[in-house]
Order: sequence, then structure tokens, then C-alpha cells
Amino acid sequence: MIYLDNAATTRTAPEVVEAMLPYFTEYYGNAGGIYRLGGESKRALMRARETIAETLGVQPGEIYFTSGGTESDNWALKAAYEACRDRGRHIITSGIEHHAVLRTCEYLEQRGAEVTYLNVDADGMIDPEQLKRAIRPDTILISIMYANNEIGTIQPIREIGEIAAEHGILFHTDAVQAYGQLPIDAAGCRLDMLSASAHKFNGPKGVGFLYIGQKTRLRSFLHGGQQERGRRAGTENIAGIVGMETAARRAHRLMEEKAEREISLRDHLIGRILREIPGAQLNGHAGKRLPGNVNVSFAAVEGETVLIMLDMEGICASSGSACTSGSLDPSHVLRAIGLTPEMARGSLRLTIGEENTMEEMDIVAETLARIVKKIRDTRI
Ligand SMILES: *Cc1c(COP(=O)(O)O)cnc(C)c1O
Repeated sequence: MIYLDNAATTRTAPEVVEAMLPYFTEYYGNAGGIYRLGGESKRALMRARETIAETLGVQPGEIYFTSGGTESDNWALKAAYEACRDRGRHIITSGIEHHAVLRTCEYLEQRGAEVTYLNVDADGMIDPEQLKRAIRPDTILISIMYANNEIGTIQPIREIGEIAAEHGILFHTDAVQAYGQLPIDAAGCRLDMLSASAHKFNGPKGVGFLYIGQKTRLRSFLHGGQQERGRRAGTENIAGIVGMETAARRAHRLMEEKAEREISLRDHLIGRILREIPGAQLNGHAGKRLPGNVNVSFAAVEGETVLIMLDMEGICASSGSACTSGSLDPSHVLRAIGLTPEMARGSLRLTIGEENTMEEMDIVAETLARIVKKIRDTRI
């Protein structure tokens, strides 16, 4: 099998699983307990908070553990809106955000929010000048993703953060695709909130975090016990958090080398596809792009058909319409960068991870060329 769907989720690294196991079998005590067994959990929790904070250059008290990217995005947007509603009801985001942000914005619109969805250019980039023009006296929040999950485009987060700070507007970024892949400087980017998720960087599923800067006072997300300084109640997922910590440490240790490797695989695969398959085009920015992201469209071919045929050859990928599973509506991201419905339906996302090899890229390029030709030949 060749796994090329790492933007959807990654394999939990064996080192991560090993670090988690004792927290199921030996150190299962409640971190809130006063007995010694609870102390083990409590220390693990503290260590994890310190490690994660260090990777962003922030304080441990600014890290809140959650169940993943979706929860972090929901918390950030809903709580920021509630906290600032008296000052204004205007939110700025982009049209290419993950559904965890877009659907939450729609929910807030039903509750009185006014949302501006910024357009992106043909590469999927936000224009900071356009952002400036969208700011109003009643703008309370800017939420722009760090890097896009479909086309891999990396946004000018530093510039956006400066604009937000200049205007005294809260700034949130969904960094689920970026954290663990790219170095992130929370202070330099003037971030007030950042969402991340462990399973996107070889950690376990169902655990993530939200960074909330000290100056940002947000309401609790879950009400109940005093966990997470009273802001996110519920017995801590210690094993998951330890897994995320191990994965974060590992991702930052291997970051440079992994990125370099993935970029060479990515560019090799993109090069072969564009040269060898007629009517193929690359989606997303060629350079400002996640190391492992390949997103291509083929004229006169359904991405879904390609996916099924790739699966029969043991290759796992995804298409622009697979995200909204079952629906063949072309992705909102591909439409936002101006693809025709035909090219959007003919799209394919191949996302490279640390376990992929150059040989696999060659197999995939050759298989794809054969499949696309076969589909086109049968059509005519
Ligand atoms: C995967 C993803 C999410 C959702 O994260 P979960 O941990 O799966 O809830 C949110 N935003 C982006 C950009 C993602 O890629």
C-alpha cells in the first residue's frame, strides 16, 4: 500500500504509542487526585504543557488541551465572539477555511455576527491589502488559516498578524496543517489564538490544543470541573496528551530534515505529473506550499474515478469532493481559486508523509498516467 493522505490523518509514530502506553496501564490515576498515582498524571500534564508552549515560544499557562482541531476552532471563534460582542459583531475570515471555521462562522451569523469572507487569488493567497480594506470599526476578530488543508498554500500570517495588532483586533489562526510541519513564532505573528491537532503530526487522534494568549480573556468552552484552569472541564486525556507531546517534540526535532525530504518528493511527483499527463495542472501556490502537498487537476476526468482506480492499485489519496463525503459538489477551496467546475471535479490531492519514498512517487506518477489515459480512452 502507498499512503498519500497525510493531510487527512497520519500514522501514529511507534515512539508515540510507546510513550502513551504506561498512561493506560500504570499511571491511570486522576490528575486531580491527591494520592501519589494522580501525581504521575499531573506531572505528565505539566510536562506536556511546557513542551507544547516551548514549541511556540509561549507560556505553559497559555496552552489548553482539547479534543482536536475542530474543538479548538469552535472554542476560539465562539468564545471570542461572545467576549467581544459588546464592542462589535464583525468577523473577518477567508473563503478557503476548513469547515470547522466556516460552519462555526455560519452558526455565529445566525446569532447576529456579520462575517466577511475574504477572496483569495488563483494561488489561494490572501491579499493583506484587501484584509485592511475589510476592517471596520466594529471588527472584533480575524481568523485566517496558517496553511490550507486542500491546496497546501501558506498564508502571510506575520503580515496579517501585524495588521490585526495595529487595529487592536483579536487574531486566530487554524494552524492544524502547519503545526509540526513549519516553525511557528506566535509572538512574531502577533497571534492571540492558535488551533492544532495531534493526529496531523503523527500523534493520536482525538487530542489537540488551543493556544490562548494571556491577555485574551475567553469564556470556558466546557462547563464542569476545574480542569484546564476551569476553562475546559472534563478529566484530562492524559495518554492522548502525552502522545501529542511526544509527537510534537519529535516533529520539531525532525522538522527541517523531514521538510527537505518531502519537498524533494513533492516536486519530483508534481514535475512528473505535469510533464507526463496531458491536461494536468497544479492547484495552489508553487512555492509557498506545505512540504508534502500535491494537488492537481486533470481535464476531462472525474477525480472520484481516479481515486477508486488508485485504491484498486493500493494507493490512498483524496479528491476535491471527497471531503464533503458522498457529495460530488466541487470543493469550496478549488472554486475559490477560480477552477472551472470541470477542473475542480477532476482534482486529486496526494499528501506526502515521513514514510513515503522516491520509488513510491515514481510508482504513483506512472500509475496515474496509466489510469488517466484509460479513463479518457474509455470515454471516447
Ligand atoms: C484536520 C483539520 C481540522 C480538524 O481537526 P480535527 O482534529 O480532525 O478535528 C481543522 N482544520 C484543518 C485545517 C484541518 O486540516
